[in-house]
This record gives sequence, structure tokens and C-alpha cells, in this order.
Amino acid sequence: MLVNSKKILLEAKKGGFAIPATNFIDLDSARAYTKVAEQRGLPLILSFAQAHKNLISLEEAALIGKYFAEKSTVPVVLHLDHGEDKEFIFKAIDLGFKSVMIDASSETFEDNIKISKEIVEYAHSKDITVEAELGHVGAGENYESHDMTDSVYTEVDDVIEFVEKTKVDSLAISIGTAHGTYAGTPKLNFTRLKEIAAISNIPLVLHGGSSSGDDNLNYCALNGISKINIFTDLLTAAYTEIKENCPKDYISLKENANDGMMKMLNHYYDVFNTKSI
Ligand SMILES: [Zn+2]
Repeated sequence: MLVNSKKILLEAKKGGFAIPATNFIDLDSARAYTKVAEQRGLPLILSFAQAHKNLISLEEAALIGKYFAEKSTVPVVLHLDHGEDKEFIFKAIDLGFKSVMIDASSETFEDNIKISKEIVEYAHSKDITVEAELGHVGAGENYESHDMTDSVYTEVDDVIEFVEKTKVDSLAISIGTAHGTYAGTPKLNFTRLKEIAAISNIPLVLHGGSSSGDDNLNYCALNGISKINIFTDLLTAAYTEIKENCPKDYISLKENANDGMMKMLNHYYDVFNTKSI
């Protein structure tokens, strides 16, 4: 069933587990992710990033996402990942996305509040949930975000004021992950995570989950992170499966790619300790 993220993320927060948010970039990836969610009987956040609008349009993503979410036997959120501007986000809502992220994390604290608040007002009037980002999760090129940027940790003292003023439903925090892959396993700031989790009354989100290390991600899932974004590892798994199988035709190649993504999502459901809702 197609749902917004309100209930499932609060359940995850209460239950001490995280729900994977997987970016789809075509029909096959959306189908592969929802298939795993159904096989496992677990919730899924099916995400489309604005940065991928040149791979599939927002209109195509809305149709694909709604189709798989609506016919699914488990709760599936059609979520806009890294919404960058008001026009695009409002259009996503009008096209049927049930959850949106406004990423104004590169702006000043005051502007981040102002921009996020405006999105919340429109979204909440239509029962759509909103995720914002405080602090900044850095990025390499071609991942969920456009620009190459450095990470900036989320400040504990900013969290309460930000959530009170914006009324966002969930908050992406920065504790040492980055988008894309790393050279080695990153060192995450668990102390900061625990400090933020202790004072936050809304679910917390971790971006840049790929290649962050299973132990690190499992720890985050058990200690206050309710949603973990995965993208690069799914693509890597698809390509690894193709290389290992040496497909002889295009249809086999696509099957290998789908198998690789499904195996990786299965793996992360275990790592995130995801429970049925
Ligand atoms: Zn992200």
C-alpha cells in the first residue's frame, strides 16, 4: 500500500530499527526493491532523487512509484529524495509523492528553517510528510546530490529549535557519513548520534549509508536512526552480478542487475534490523 512516512518511521523509532530508503532510477530497480520488500513482508521507502531527473522524469518516477506502491502488500512510501527547489517539490506532491525531502542544508541555519517551513506548510495541507537536513552530508558527483561538498556535523543545540520552528516530520543528520563510496570505512560519531537521539522527538535519518560498514549501520539502526538511505551499494551489487555472470544478451544482463540489487537490499534489511509494520 502507498503510505506517507509518518507512521512507519515512528514505529521504527519506537521499535529500534531502521527502514531502508532505496533510490530507483528506472522501472526495473523500482520493481526489484518492492519485490524484496514483499518477499520479506517489510516496509520500504521507494525514493526518487531530484538529481536523477535526467535518467527518468519526475512524471515517469511518479507513475512507476505509485504503481508498485499501490499494489504492494506491504507499506511503501513514494519519497522525493533531495528536493532542491520549491517548484520541483510541489510538483512531486501534486503528482502523488507521499513524502518529500527538502535539502536546504547548504544554506544558513535561518534560511534552512525558512525554506523547510514553507515546504512543510504546503505538504502538511495535503497529508504529505517532510524530511529536512540539518548539518550537511557531503557528496561525490553523480550520487543523490549534485554538488561535490564536504560534510558538516549536525549541532545538538540546533535540533530542537529547527524542529520546533519548521514542524518537519523527520530529520537527516550528519554524523560522519558521505554520499557515494569511501576509501576505507568511515568513522561515525556515535556520541553525537546518541546526544541527538536523546533530545529529538521526531525520527532521525542517515544519508550516505552505502559502504559505511555493516557494523556502523547496524549500530545506528539500533541507536536512534529510523531511515537509512542506500543507493551506491545497490548499483555496485548490480554491476558485480553482471560481471560475475557474463550475460550473453541484454535480457540476461538486466536479470543479473536486478538479482544483484535484490541481494543487496535483502542484506541491508538484516543489517538495519527492519521489522514488519
Ligand atoms: Zn542523501
